[in-house]
Amino acid sequence: MKVDFMEKNTTVSLSLDDEKITKMKEFYKENIYPNNNEYVSTLIKLDNLTITIYTSNKVVFQGKEAEYESSLWGEGKSQIWKTEKDHIGSDEVGTGDYFGPMCVCASFVTDKDIAWLNELGVNDSKTLTDDKIIKIAPHLIKRIPYSQMSVDPVKYNTLIESGYNQGKIKAMLHNQVIHNLREKMSKNNVLTVIDQFVTEGKYYEYIRYTKNIEKNITFETKADSKYPAVAVSSIIARYSFLVKMATMSKAIGKVIPKGAGDQVDKFGKEIVNVHGEEKLKELAKWHFANTKKILYEN
Ligand code: MN
Repeated sequence: MKVDFMEKNTTVSLSLDDEKITKMKEFYKENIYPNNNEYVSTLIKLDNLTITIYTSNKVVFQGKEAEYESSLWGEGKSQIWKTEKDHIGSDEVGTGDYFGPMCVCASFVTDKDIAWLNELGVNDSKTLTDDKIIKIAPHLIKRIPYSQMSVDPVKYNTLIESGYNQGKIKAMLHNQVIHNLREKMSKNNVLTVIDQFVTEGKYYEYIRYTKNIEKNITFETKADSKYPAVAVSSIIARYSFLVKMATMSKAIGKVIPKGAGDQVDKFGKEIVNVHGEEKLKELAKWHFANTKKILYEN
């Protein structure tokens, strides 16, 4: 049974009370390592395991025996990233939102970032609220190298009118941010993962006339819960989207809704009534079905 635990490198995080933390520090006192990270109260190193006790009382077990060792102290959330080695990952947001831009980001994560990312809560990226994203994204941006690009609705609509579809715009942006980041980091051979939105064949078909076509890409669905860099990229891209939505909202004096549901249609009608159709086109992805509903349905 224990052999199973020892096979793979895993990360488990626990939130413990003061009493348990005190016990842990006593228990592992021979293995305490010096550390000068302001967020870390105690760093413990065992043969195949690093235990990081944060000032927030979060405890992260990392290494081959993380599952076993953490089970001695409490029940934790086990996050088994598919890789914890250096890699690039990219993701996009805004593709399902009628209003606002499409944002794509690629980031470069190293093995030394993993524990810190887990502590920040990046391993729960699927359940992160916009509020949490606004809190943690500025920390990510400071530490993690990334490349980010956005297409605002005006540019987006021009591209669609000239014959692009959304998949092609996405593919070109992914290729571009990966190119920028690989170049910036001089990392042409590092594992690079795209959160898959089309087949590999279709992806390369979309970008076939593009300059600087980036090869050696791994395409995987749900990659944001498997690869730390994809999770980071999805958070930075979402943050960028939220910031741009806030700016657009401020300019128009009303909070622009996200998504593509009924409240979006309602808001769209209001925009048309107050500012006219042209204004709507400046703010929205025109080819969405919402446009017809806004213009022609009551
Ligand atoms: Mn995605």
